[in-house]
Amino acid sequence: MNDRHPRTRRSPDKSNGQQTPGPVEHARIAAAVREILLAVGEDPDREGLRETPQRVARMYEEMFAGLRKDPAVILRKTFTEKYDEMVLVKDIGFESMCEHHLLPFFGRAHVAYLPNGKIVGLSKLARAVEVLSRRPQVQERMTEELADLIMKELDARGVAVILEASHTCMSIRGIRKPGAICATSAMRGAFQSNLSSRSELMALIHNNR
Ligand SMILES: [Zn+2]
Repeated sequence: MNDRHPRTRRSPDKSNGQQTPGPVEHARIAAAVREILLAVGEDPDREGLRETPQRVARMYEEMFAGLRKDPAVILRKTFTEKYDEMVLVKDIGFESMCEHHLLPFFGRAHVAYLPNGKIVGLSKLARAVEVLSRRPQVQERMTEELADLIMKELDARGVAVILEASHTCMSIRGIRKPGAICATSAMRGAFQSNLSSRSELMALIHNNR
């Protein structure tokens, strides 16, 4: 990296001492998109493409909004509750960008946990999925990050995360296999050690399909 291409500006994040990225630099994305158009042999000044670099910049800001949010904060507001059976939110739709090709992958997340005296609002689990998906991602890592995050923030007895997704980098390029679904799972605590918890989970997920 030389001075003409400084890394993203980062500002200190007071909550956890880590650095969070500064605001999205639209002009920089737009200039890069214009370069790509020139490099593939297009005319970025023709009518149809004139607004494209700015449009793509706004799209990337939206697709990568999760880089500027801490999913742990979302799960921090918990309620004390005696309920200690499984909580499952299934079919949480998500859209993400594969970090290898910057192409979308999208599908459904199923998130379950076994409470340990603390529960969290159901919509918060969906919000956590959204924050982690709105980043350059790989499905395997997103699955594990979600499981570890919920385990830690809820101090749960067990967490299970299953992601099912279609990857456009598999369907429109490379091996071109449209319709293929990639499934990943991460089991923590009782879901890892206890076969009956896992069976109950699978029955609930596949129920009423
Ligand atoms: Zn990819």
